[in-house]
Amino acid sequence: MPSAPRPERRLTLWPEHSTTGPDLERVPMPYDTAVPHRLLIGGAWEVAQGHSLPRCDPATEAARLPVIAASDAQVLHAVRAAEASGWQTSGRTHRLSALAQMIEGIEARAESFAQTISREIGVPIDFARRSQVEAALNHLRAMQVAYDATPDDMPVAPDCPADRVRYEPVGVAALITPWNWPLNQIVLKVGAALLAGCPMVLKPSELGADTAMLFAICMEDIDLPPGTFNLVMGGADTGAALVAHPAIAAVSFTGSTRAGQSIAIAAAQGFRRTILEMGGKSPNVLFEDCDVDTAMRQGLAHCFRNNGQSCNAASRMLVARGIYEKALEKAAQIVAEIHIGLPDQPGDHIGPQVSAAQHAHVQHLLQSGIDAGARLVVGGPGRPEGYTRGYFTRPSVLADVTPEMRVFREEIFGPVLTVTPFDSEAEAIALANDTPYGLAGYVQTADAACADRMARALRVGMVQVNGQSRAPGAPFGGVKASGVGREAGLWGIRAFQDVKSISGAVSDASI
Ligand code: NAD
Repeated sequence: MPSAPRPERRLTLWPEHSTTGPDLERVPMPYDTAVPHRLLIGGAWEVAQGHSLPRCDPATEAARLPVIAASDAQVLHAVRAAEASGWQTSGRTHRLSALAQMIEGIEARAESFAQTISREIGVPIDFARRSQVEAALNHLRAMQVAYDATPDDMPVAPDCPADRVRYEPVGVAALITPWNWPLNQIVLKVGAALLAGCPMVLKPSELGADTAMLFAICMEDIDLPPGTFNLVMGGADTGAALVAHPAIAAVSFTGSTRAGQSIAIAAAQGFRRTILEMGGKSPNVLFEDCDVDTAMRQGLAHCFRNNGQSCNAASRMLVARGIYEKALEKAAQIVAEIHIGLPDQPGDHIGPQVSAAQHAHVQHLLQSGIDAGARLVVGGPGRPEGYTRGYFTRPSVLADVTPEMRVFREEIFGPVLTVTPFDSEAEAIALANDTPYGLAGYVQTADAACADRMARALRVGMVQVNGQSRAPGAPFGGVKASGVGREAGLWGIRAFQDVKSISGAVSDASI
């Protein structure tokens, strides 16, 4: 088995030139998937029988084909199909072969996935190709390597072969995913559940339904018992109906902290295994000895890429007082170079927010920061010049942001960076940790000892120093209001398994 390729360490630089202005008439309308949405239940496609969920094109606001939700009876049917699939007793060889087929299916449709994701959520097409699809494939390849290298049945210690631990599937898994990395969030759950031996029901976000549909078409081609993978469409109520089903043994959720909290409460009623990947407000700490130009370019890219809609966005910059004004000058200069563009335009640019609700949320929080006394360095409320429709936001930087302001504490989920000065390492740590969230932390310094102290002191699930990206098999997840449990690599697979302790029976290697 080849080792998982490490993605290229990429420093995204914004283009040197400014925008040439939008060409909205060029956008083909409506942007719709060639495949109508269906449910996949017990190996057969079904027409959804629930209510209709409206959607709009992020770039044009034109109405798109609505998503039709599964009825409660169809959710029930999907869970029963998963229960009856028999995947719980599948062997390692079958699991690895199914995962390999999933990877092949996605690779073969990589361009269709990129086009679908770009149209559906409004991210630039090159970003969808390079990051959205590649991240998903890299995660799957890393899981494949990790699972292949680690047995599910092993001695507790080398000198006691009759005392074993066995990792066994917890049972039927409910997988609930968001829209912002639609393929990546699906495969992190489906790949892990498959390798763990859990049959599953996937309920994607209605705003990511086209991507989920294309993914289900890949799954249909895999040699799996019918009902191992089921797809139901719908919104929050469909997700809630799924979580509440008594046959669900595990719930893996990625989305907002508010929804995660309500899911955790519902899942606890049935003592279900719960994995929660939620929101973030991740600090990016710039010490005086960092390269300000590189740190600002990387920092802005980390905040703004994916149109500012990533859970681990470095959205809260903390800057040493000695380089504060220089950093803000750099920020204004770099943001002025940023290109706003339509999703299908090539190159590195920023596209629209995914929906009217998301756009209104970003605008509201940006205005609240200005009203609370933050200094607007660049950008501001309203659409970028030349854009009369579409959910476009002006990339913005707010300085002098203090911990009392909402923009310091709440997830904005758009291209808005907040900047706060600090006077000492202790103050930087206190500010960094002063948030309900704890997903990621970023540190920029030339001092290795300081980097190590910061990596230990930050109350987060993941720390990246000087722009070093995580390997695809590294655990992904947060602490506090950002999450419970981990996804990716072996950690993601074990999250869907129970540990059984067996003494007195030696493992039969043939089973
Ligand atoms: P959301 O919480 O609105 O929806 C996420 C999913 O949960 C959707 O499928 C939705 O239909 C479903 N859902 C919502 N309420 C539910 C309920 N009460 N019961 C069952 N299902 C329910 O989030 P979103 O807007 O789709 O995604 C954006 C959020 O996701 C952001 O907060 C972002 O930070 C977070 N996110 C986190 C990670 C991570 O790994 N930590 C990754 C990506 C996105």
